[in-house]
Amino acid sequence: MNNTDKIYNLAAPGVQQLIPYIPGKPIEELERELGLTRIIKLASNENPLGPGKKALEAIQAALPQLTLYPDGNGFNLKQALSRQYAIEMSQITLGNGSNEILELVARAFLMPGLEAIFSQHAFAVYPIVTQAVGATAVVVPALNYGHDLDTMLQRVTDKTRVVFIANPNNPTGTLLSQASVESFISALPESCVCVLDEAYFEFVRTVESVNSIDWLKKHPNLIVTRTFSKAYGLAGLRVGYGLSSPQMADILNRVRQPFNNNALALVAAEAALTDFEHLKNTITVNTQGMQQLTDGFKDLGLEWIESAGNFVLVDVKQPGQPLYEALLRKGVIVRPVGNYELPNHLRISIGTKEENQVFLQALTEVLAGNV
Ligand SMILES: *Cc1c(COP(=O)(O)O)cnc(C)c1O
Repeated sequence: MNNTDKIYNLAAPGVQQLIPYIPGKPIEELERELGLTRIIKLASNENPLGPGKKALEAIQAALPQLTLYPDGNGFNLKQALSRQYAIEMSQITLGNGSNEILELVARAFLMPGLEAIFSQHAFAVYPIVTQAVGATAVVVPALNYGHDLDTMLQRVTDKTRVVFIANPNNPTGTLLSQASVESFISALPESCVCVLDEAYFEFVRTVESVNSIDWLKKHPNLIVTRTFSKAYGLAGLRVGYGLSSPQMADILNRVRQPFNNNALALVAAEAALTDFEHLKNTITVNTQGMQQLTDGFKDLGLEWIESAGNFVLVDVKQPGQPLYEALLRKGVIVRPVGNYELPNHLRISIGTKEENQVFLQALTEVLAGNV
């Protein structure tokens, strides 16, 4: 270790061991690296239609105000959310993406000596926020690629302070029934915070899956997180939220930065929330695209994991990383998931009809050895 590297020893122990999150490759980066021009990105579960018109208009209208700090309490957005979900504004925590809510939970509730439970193949941010604050991650083996709620419950001890559940789960797309989630939360000790991460809830088509918010009244230790990054097409602006008891929101608010949501994010999210037309189109494109992709997989003799989200995990029956790289050379960015202990799968975000077509063509070629 040379002299400048010694600074690593100063970092908190959890941070020294931390492996950073690997994001989907940005289009510009691939352009720079390969000099390609026609690139499609189906790697980060963004909305292929982009933001809705209402959100774009709200952004345009807010531009002249950018010299001012945003509303640190996000009054207008909270009011819109409170109307939409029939909850109190005091139950809402706004985040710089729902990722920030996950981090606020870790900072507010976890510390060395305490444990957070989550599933194998669950969202990569859970281990990061847990480890960053020096708490211990308890990873429960997946059941059919999804959460094994019974075993997760068995792993709860008096050291367990947080449980993370993603429903639908990313990257596997698996969906737990609302009934099973509800009985899990009811069985969880109140000393344990339950984070129910519903980043993809707008895409869920089963009728029963819309009432997690009803559980908040009974469970002050529950927080439901959602985002404008996926179905609403605003990933670049970074805005998400948590719904919880007012007490939980109060705790998270204490560790939140005063202006964590920028002014454009606040107005765009507020406008997006009532752009039902755009949401409807988004769902339609997703449903059709899912069919198109899975039909394509079937033709190629590939199996996939049934997904309730806007992405699908396909089993490529060989190491996914080289296939991912071959696809990159054809200008198609997807997501390898070896870091999720799924080395033979690739995660594909659902794109437009044309994007899905280009991807399937490229996949056919690389599987045929035409790289
Ligand atoms: C995308 C995603 C999020 C949050 O993304 P933000 O852009 O930070 O809102 C949270 N959880 C899961 C499971 C996700 O896939």
